[in-house]
Amino acid sequence: MQAKNWTLKAWFGEKCTYDQGKLGRELNNHFHPILLSMPSKSNSTETNSKNAYDIAIIGTGGSGIAAAIYSARFNLKTVVIGEKYGGLIVDTHLVENYPGFVRLSGYDLMQEFKKHVEDYKDKVTLLDASAQHVKKTKNGFEVETSEGKVSARAIILATGTERKKLNVPGEKEYTNKGVSYCATCDSPLFKNKIVGIVGGSDSAVKEGLLLSEYASKVYVIYRGQQVRAEPINMERLKKAKNVEVITNTNVLEIKGEKFISHVILDKPFQGKKEMPLGGLFIEIGHIVRNELAKELGVALDEKGEIIVDKNSNTNVEGVFSAGDVTNRAWKQLITGVAEGCVAAWSAYEYLNGSSTREKK
Ligand SMILES: Cc1cc2nc3c(=O)[nH]c(=O)nc-3n(C[C@H](O)[C@H](O)[C@H](O)COP(=O)(O)OP(=O)(O)OC[C@H]3O[C@@H](n4cnc5c(N)ncnc54)[C@H](O)[C@@H]3O)c2cc1C
Repeated sequence: MQAKNWTLKAWFGEKCTYDQGKLGRELNNHFHPILLSMPSKSNSTETNSKNAYDIAIIGTGGSGIAAAIYSARFNLKTVVIGEKYGGLIVDTHLVENYPGFVRLSGYDLMQEFKKHVEDYKDKVTLLDASAQHVKKTKNGFEVETSEGKVSARAIILATGTERKKLNVPGEKEYTNKGVSYCATCDSPLFKNKIVGIVGGSDSAVKEGLLLSEYASKVYVIYRGQQVRAEPINMERLKKAKNVEVITNTNVLEIKGEKFISHVILDKPFQGKKEMPLGGLFIEIGHIVRNELAKELGVALDEKGEIIVDKNSNTNVEGVFSAGDVTNRAWKQLITGVAEGCVAAWSAYEYLNGSSTREKK
């Protein structure tokens, strides 16, 4: 894939040159609106036939796009509604576990998905919009989006998750002034700076390793006893000379003037609770995007995840779900993609008067 260089005015008033593959979210938001065709804006309470679909898939991450490809192959008129094309994976600089692609950025991988779904553009409409409300109607469902209303006979919820906030003083104030939630997007801004990353998961370790290619020093600050990453990433972490892990430690406050200058820890590190930092990345997990599921009366587990059976059925007839938003245990792109495929099949069966629901 040919890398393009983009010059953007960055946070600190500096000009930075980026490699496109590494600049997932920013470029995605600003330069890659995907709109194959869009339903006309409607203020009426009824949707017209142009805006009437067999299936409305909510979420244009990997799970939603996979569901759309299968839905098209089942010959169903499909709309995929998404506010951020590609979903979470586009913020990942390195994907090495998606079969068929040895190593590429999440952004580039989702561009491959885009080419694939565009091949079905006679059946699939990608709508660049936020789905604000959804309700059951006599003939199916109505989705109110930021671009007007659409109706569908079945719904697939593939709404994924959003990043958790640390919720400490200074976090809001210094967001985009040294506090970031995406190393893939922002690492180049921290060249030769000392930075911290809060978190102890595989994602946090991966983000820390990427940061270490730019920053002079990276502290991985984790509240637990031991960071937990895939063995291959743990090996890389051990080998990285400028990455240091601090365990059993919390960040209590973020301080600075115009930009972040330091954080306050809950226990001393090298004799001090005050830790000078030129940047702080937060990678502490995700919150389930279940607002629409709640509106439809879809059953959720104690974590707020959508409860699905093995065929991606929810408890509500005509509503299916796939990917990170569900209560399935192992959340990866490939598992979401597989679930999207199953959800499309179950929706197809449902529309044909059969059910894939597991018998109790
Ligand atoms: C740092 C990091 C590294 C990772 N690395 C890997 C990896 O190497 N390999 C791997 O397989 N997985 C990896 N993952 C996990 C992977 O990103 C997720 O499992 C995958 O993105 C889930 O896809 P999804 O489509 O279910 O959800 P998401 O990717 O979260 O997509 C959901 C989409 O729905 C949209 N949406 C939500 N609500 C609405 C609404 N109301 N209206 C319109 N749109 C809406 C969201 O904006 C989003 O675009 C990583 C995750 C992180 C955080």
